Amino acid sequence: MGEFCFTPLGGANSIGESCYLFEVDNARILVDAGLGFQERPFPNNLVSRIDKALNGLANIDLVLITHAHRDHLGSLLKLIANGYKGYIYSSEVTRKLAKYVFDDIITDTLPNSQIADLYTHYASYMYQQWYSFELGDSLDIKGITIWPFNAGHIGGSYGYVIEDDGSSVVITGDASLYPNLSSGTMSFPNVENCELLICDGTGVNKKEVNFQSDEAVVDAVEIALNRGEKVIFPCVALGKDIETLLRLEREMVRRKKSFDIFAAQSTFEVASIIGLERNLAKMRCKVAELKEITSPGIFVGRVPKQFRVPKSSYYDYLDILPSKKSPKLHYFSIGTHLNSEQIELLIDFAKPKKTVFVHTLERELKNTKFRSPSFSIAQELRRYERGDYSW
Ligand SMILES: [Zn+2]
Repeated sequence: MGEFCFTPLGGANSIGESCYLFEVDNARILVDAGLGFQERPFPNNLVSRIDKALNGLANIDLVLITHAHRDHLGSLLKLIANGYKGYIYSSEVTRKLAKYVFDDIITDTLPNSQIADLYTHYASYMYQQWYSFELGDSLDIKGITIWPFNAGHIGGSYGYVIEDDGSSVVITGDASLYPNLSSGTMSFPNVENCELLICDGTGVNKKEVNFQSDEAVVDAVEIALNRGEKVIFPCVALGKDIETLLRLEREMVRRKKSFDIFAAQSTFEVASIIGLERNLAKMRCKVAELKEITSPGIFVGRVPKQFRVPKSSYYDYLDILPSKKSPKLHYFSIGTHLNSEQIELLIDFAKPKKTVFVHTLERELKNTKFRSPSFSIAQELRRYERGDYSW
């Protein structure tokens, strides 16, 4: 690999603001432009950090987006509003799902007419600059080659390989080796000389697969419905609603049972973008908004903030809320991130010279024993800020 430099620009301490700069020879590639969950939306700091690191947004050659979650693309609009006029690339599904991410950002932060106005004004520019490429395609830019692989996280999620001179950098994005029904299976790339692996570290020290089986989830659902309660799956992350519906359907078919299942209009739209509208059409799932569910039944969908369970700080968790009256809450989760065993597999396979974990705190890396020198983004950021960067 020629002259190579990796600069972390965000995502150091928690989920949010994923943004990384890769400079290979003369090419400057930004991967993701996320939005933090804690901060006010569209904080200036990420875009100014990008601006500062690159000495002007005009110096970005390309922005690659891994998937349609706000912590990976929520600042894109702001980047455009600040004058970025270059290319954006992702899967076609991610490009189409972006609208729902911004809709959620706008809904969550009402009253925030500012963002709604920004969206109205800049979205068309953003989509004009935004191209899609398919699995199997590659991009050549200033002599380096970039190609995507299925990250298995949500529908349309990509990881990327940046190749130059027989060496490569692999970026997993949020990724999973679980056989999820809506995203397809991760296809980790077989690369030569992996200089650096940027890995999803959300479950970096989670060894046990502690997910409830679909059978257990549907057992709990049945009990609640028999009591005359409503069951709500307030899926926070985009795509989780579809995965939940597909699993409920599979388990209902296995039991030869049919429950009343409702999903929001947006869930049907997202399913059709992912290419699963026929699966949904076959299901006995009806369109309804949460407030319209008055009799015992199941609602699956993205819901306004006030319905989200505050205890569920881990945003990927899927929660079953038996009823407002009942104090009993069940927590179930669907695996859409790599756990430590899966990460070990990927590291053994790719043999990277160095691994940097995203969405990871330093202390979470303490007891891990991966066969690759491993660091968190926070450690990398500190080194970068000290100007003490070895690349
Ligand atoms: Zn994600």
